[in-house]
Amino acid sequence: MSAEIISGKEVAENILTTDLKSRVEKLKQSNIIPKLVVILVGEMKASASYVAQKEKFAGKAGIISEVQRFDDNVSEDEILNRISEINSDKSIHGVIVQLPLPKHISVAKVLNNINPDKDVDGFTPFNVGKLFLGEDTLVSCTPKGIMLMLESKNVDLSGKNVTVIGRSNIVGKPVSILCQQQNATVTMCHSKTKDLDSKLADADVVIVAAGVPRFISGSQIPEGAVVIDVGIHNIEGKLCGDVDFESASKRASAITPVPGGVGPMTVCALIENTIIAAERFNSA
Ligand code: NAP
Repeated sequence: MSAEIISGKEVAENILTTDLKSRVEKLKQSNIIPKLVVILVGEMKASASYVAQKEKFAGKAGIISEVQRFDDNVSEDEILNRISEINSDKSIHGVIVQLPLPKHISVAKVLNNINPDKDVDGFTPFNVGKLFLGEDTLVSCTPKGIMLMLESKNVDLSGKNVTVIGRSNIVGKPVSILCQQQNATVTMCHSKTKDLDSKLADADVVIVAAGVPRFISGSQIPEGAVVIDVGIHNIEGKLCGDVDFESASKRASAITPVPGGVGPMTVCALIENTIIAAERFNSA
């Protein structure tokens, strides 16, 4: 079997230039242009390229994206004050703080200070709680992007077995909840899981967010499963995921590539969240 390659790049481009662009046009008729602010502390190369992609995608959908840069040695208070100003600025609809932050700044404190209505990363406890309760909310971007991608490929999760590898707050846990909401039976695995192979054996969909390069190989993928590879690693100048693409693509029915899979969908979901925040502001 040779798998269909699920191009997140193409799916994202399509969503950005059709649905999202037309929603932005509609908001502009009410004199609202959705605006996203990205707070970037320090000079991490990975963060900088991710931020550049956000700006590019924002342009495609027609929203404003502004990067506010701070030195590595900026104080926690300075960041918290900036967030307070953004919270009360009516022209800004969404804010994200690019992680990781320098050690002297508390991520929890920073996230707790973001107005949940502007929390377009979906990381605040309020929005995470609403997701858990199944209420309408701003859903964190990578899990949301994965669901958009599955939907675009008409993958119906109802009654299916989904195995998720990884239980982080930003990927594994929320994507498990979203899959359950679509009536999937979800198996969550982590570093203490015993006999991972048996947890993969009857999976219809495998979502890998372990943060270990080429961790899952083709022999562990059930014939015909859909494989979503969230990982991204730069190994000697070459990008790869948490899945060994070459062997897995021989067993899967569909698989996401790295790069060009989950990454662009994450940014697409961020742009949609900013538009949702602006739509809510408009109808408030
Ligand atoms: P993370 O916070 O490091 O979490 C990794 C998870 O994988 C943990 O739950 C860990 O288990 C589990 N794990 C680690 N080794 C394992 C093993 N040997 N067997 C089973 N489970 C294992 O990672 P993350 O933030 O979720 O990110 C995961 C990957 O996705 C990273 O490569 C990251 O760069 C990438 N990522 C990509 C995007 C994108 O947009 N493309 C977005 C976010 C993240 P324990 O909980 O037991 O430690």
